[in-house]
Amino acid sequence: MTASQADPSAAAAQSALRLMSQHGITPSALNYEVWFEFHLGRTPALNAAIEARIGGGGEVDDTFTAQLHEQYFGDAAASAQIAITGEKIARDLGQVLAFMRLSEEKSGDYGRTLESAATDLNRGLASDQIQQIVSSLAAATLDMANHNQHLTDQLKKSSREINTLRASLESVRLESLTDALTGLSNRRMFDEALRMRIDEARAQKTDLCLLLCDIDFFKRFNDTWGHQTGDQILRFLASALQAHARPDFLIARHGGEEFAMIMPRMDMRGAAQIAETMRAAISAKRLRRRSTNDDLGQVTVSIGVARLAPSDTPAGLVERTDTCLYASKRNGRNQVTTDATPVLYVA
Ligand code: GH3
Ligand code: MG
Ligand code: MG
Repeated sequence: MTASQADPSAAAAQSALRLMSQHGITPSALNYEVWFEFHLGRTPALNAAIEARIGGGGEVDDTFTAQLHEQYFGDAAASAQIAITGEKIARDLGQVLAFMRLSEEKSGDYGRTLESAATDLNRGLASDQIQQIVSSLAAATLDMANHNQHLTDQLKKSSREINTLRASLESVRLESLTDALTGLSNRRMFDEALRMRIDEARAQKTDLCLLLCDIDFFKRFNDTWGHQTGDQILRFLASALQAHARPDFLIARHGGEEFAMIMPRMDMRGAAQIAETMRAAISAKRLRRRSTNDDLGQVTVSIGVARLAPSDTPAGLVERTDTCLYASKRNGRNQVTTDATPVLYVA
């Protein structure tokens, strides 16, 4: 019997690694986690998604694996990390508590030792008896001091663990709000921020504009140059958006090849100007493939911009902005349409 027959997880590990190498999937811990789980078969939805992909002849690669990880492991991975650190702290604190209870007993004993020594010393004892009492006092004091030192060490260790937990909670929180490919905010963060910014704009009676930006003919680009070069374009766009944003704007990857920018305290004139400058800068850039230096030509984007209206819900504002974006696509792409653009009302 081989080791893998004896242990299903060893077999799953081997199969996962074999499959990853067959499909040229990067052997990272994150990727491994997905394919190991697939071979273990404990998550039926994950297996169904993978089987559908393979059955449909779709590509099984790093991007697909990353999507699966986000979908099936994102929160679970985060909560596992927190749970493990949390358990460790609970154990440490349990030890500290047990020690403190022991301390109470010990200090009671110590107090009684001191009391009886004082009584004995008051009785006018002989010097050898005094010496005996003093040396037992010294031993009890040393014992107490050691015990306190140990307690201090335990408390220090627990507070270090608590700080680690605090840091990992913070990094998990940030990870859960960030898009891994571009480093921009993700959809979850966008939804949250839009709600907050809309409330704020209403409370402060200030303007707010929303911008949506979608890459033109990106499917064709991926088909020509490959998904990895496509990913490079997504990162390029992320930095182009950042370069044109004010620090108080929130830029998010809203979907696959679609980006969003929340522009608080910004009227339509200013927002449209930023959108147009950004569109022109993106289309003016000649792109080169990093690995081979191939000329990739230009990439253009279509943009929609809408201004918050009194009756807008967050979803309503997104929908109106999307209608503007769609108008840009319909009218020939590589352009900006705002909800102040007359053609929307004529059409
Ligand atoms: P349009 O001008 O109408 O927007 O055309 P399009 O080809 O950009 O639009 P479509 O919605 O047909 O295709 C979007 C493409 O975006 C398909 C998909 O392969 C690609 N895409 C989505 N997410 C990613 C990603 O994370 N990486 C890469 N490389 N491509 C992606
Ligand atoms: Mg799209
Ligand atoms: Mg597109």
